[in-house]
Amino acid sequence: MLTYIAGAGAMGCRFGYQLQKAGYDVVLLDMWEDHIKAIKENGLQVEGDINDNVKMEIMKPTEATEEADYIILFTKAMQLPTMLESIQQIIGENTKVLCLLNGLGHEDVIKQYIPEKDIIMGVTVWTAGLKGPGKVHLSATGTVNLQAIDESGKEGAEKLVDMMNDAKLNVTYDEDVLPSIWRKACVNGTMNSNCALLDCTIGELFATEEGLRVVKEIIHEFVLVGEASGVKLDEQEITDYVMHTSEVAAAHYPSMHQDLVQNHRPTEIDYLNGAVARKGKEFGIDTPYCELITDLIHTKEKVLGIK
Ligand code: NAD
Repeated sequence: MLTYIAGAGAMGCRFGYQLQKAGYDVVLLDMWEDHIKAIKENGLQVEGDINDNVKMEIMKPTEATEEADYIILFTKAMQLPTMLESIQQIIGENTKVLCLLNGLGHEDVIKQYIPEKDIIMGVTVWTAGLKGPGKVHLSATGTVNLQAIDESGKEGAEKLVDMMNDAKLNVTYDEDVLPSIWRKACVNGTMNSNCALLDCTIGELFATEEGLRVVKEIIHEFVLVGEASGVKLDEQEITDYVMHTSEVAAAHYPSMHQDLVQNHRPTEIDYLNGAVARKGKEFGIDTPYCELITDLIHTKEKVLGIK
């Protein structure tokens, strides 16, 4: 049973590490030369709640030749098409592909490369951070919800659930995963984008009356557009979830802040607020907050010279 982790950054290293520790064959795929070199020479160094050093197989996607049983996609959203193009040679008749990226609409991209019967969509609240090439920081716990997008893929997806649960990844087969994907996107679309724009922690954003108003308007737009897309969303439940998450993570700068402000990297905004603004246009639903926030994040990317 061979599993490739397609995108062995922070999250890919976490999932790859836990699966390998549970006894499964894992190959990490990445294109970051220093990271590949560090893992090949010194193994993957794990710090945080666990301290470990493990030998792991890592290579560039184009170097992988053996057919995959499972592929877990863990690039950033805008990197997904290039990754999918470069792993075509390891996709066989029975290869199942799981997507756990944050954001909306990835299934439409994946369908261009993978038959629908083999696509599994999911969402995770596990976290991880890279501390440098070959070095991953793992703390706290999390869960995964996933679902085969075509009923015929359910059996294969359930086998993956068992495998991932052997690796203590707390995975549930969800008969309707889209609401959870949208809810997580809404958390990211409220906290990540605003904290990146305002250069503040989640707690600082939520402590202001105005910040809270903006958050609630964004949630409302996500719910309107989600429902128009056929996803069952409960605005009060999402609001409660966002508020609870903001309390738990109050001291943190979310990942988009780390990407944009701290590391001057492109953001996943087009798959969060940007996706809602785009879909809103299709349905004739006004999404002024999501549109403005998307434009401002792109403005900031350009001001910082990020490509
Ligand atoms: P990351 O940037 O640490 O990892 C992405 C990796 O993919 C990088 O190492 C990069 O080199 C590699 N990559 C990208 N394109 C590639 C290509 N074409 N070929 C080979 N390698 C390629 O990102 P991450 O933090 O692990 O996040 C991955 C996804 O998971 C994102 O959608 C993110 O929003 C989501 N997510 C992250 C966290 C977290 O705590 N980090 C939590 C939940 C969800």
